[in-house]
Amino acid sequence: MTFYLKYRPQTIEELDMQSVRESLTSIVKSGNIPHAFLFAGPKGTGKTSAARILAKVINCESKKICNKCEQCISITKGSNIDVIEMDAASNRGIDDIRVLRDTIRLAPVKAKAKIYIIDEAHMLTTEASNALLKTLEEPPDHVYFILATTNPEKLIDTIKSRTTLIQFTKATTEETKRSLKRIIKKEKFITKSVMLIKNEELDQIIKLSEGSFRDAVKLLELYAKDSGFLKNVGSFNVDELIKSLFEKNSKDVISKIEDAIKEGNGIDRITKDILEKLQQKLLQTEDSKVITLIEYILGAQEFNKVTPIEELPLEVALTKWCKLEE
Ligand SMILES: [Zn+2]
Repeated sequence: MTFYLKYRPQTIEELDMQSVRESLTSIVKSGNIPHAFLFAGPKGTGKTSAARILAKVINCESKKICNKCEQCISITKGSNIDVIEMDAASNRGIDDIRVLRDTIRLAPVKAKAKIYIIDEAHMLTTEASNALLKTLEEPPDHVYFILATTNPEKLIDTIKSRTTLIQFTKATTEETKRSLKRIIKKEKFITKSVMLIKNEELDQIIKLSEGSFRDAVKLLELYAKDSGFLKNVGSFNVDELIKSLFEKNSKDVISKIEDAIKEGNGIDRITKDILEKLQQKLLQTEDSKVITLIEYILGAQEFNKVTPIEELPLEVALTKWCKLEE
């Protein structure tokens, strides 16, 4: 299991984003938990972790997150039958929402409440959004919704107005440090190198992660495997890659991207570096080939939020471009 999954925050206190931690704490304290939430913010900032924690708040058998009861344990594992996680990117149509509307009327199987976590909610079609809205307007007492999105501006306004917004932002340096230190503390008995990590190395990881807990944790994991890797980070040679691209050597292109990732460069950074180079090239030459390539890369970014393999959309786009007939 990756560090990110292994060390997901399991209680409100463990949530590393301060504003989210405070919002959820005060909601729970009030004793009045709204039935529909909107978790909005950039990827890798802990929306899914927070959603599962909220599900535990609602369903834990001991009224406080105990992480010991059947409910807490199965929510952590993602196997709780009454906590339904749906990815709107792949279930975005009206029929999916109709199925959901039919099933919410049924009582929960084992828990106090049924909780629907709908990820990437902005991907729902307008038709499906409207169908969902009807449910959000009058949810049964035993149903809670947590919509998560990276693009709240793409949601219909009526959904936004029916939900309680919890705003996620890019993690600050302090928040990322809190997250990493929490993991180092737990991991140090297994991996000695993380215990010996230097402050400046920690700072380097935080800087490279650009506000994403997920990226920071991935980098820490790379560090645990090979503490020397940080020396190579940033050594990704974009000029070499561009050269292979214009030689239409797709094999080379892919292996260069894979190498860059292994060295700890995030896919966002790699994509940005390539685009910047192409932009310079475009300004110099106005070459139509460059324009097409840029369009391919930008097109691939649409898929970035929905793919389980982050580098795949970029690799597919670049390969497709290499195979284009001149
Ligand atoms: Zn519990």
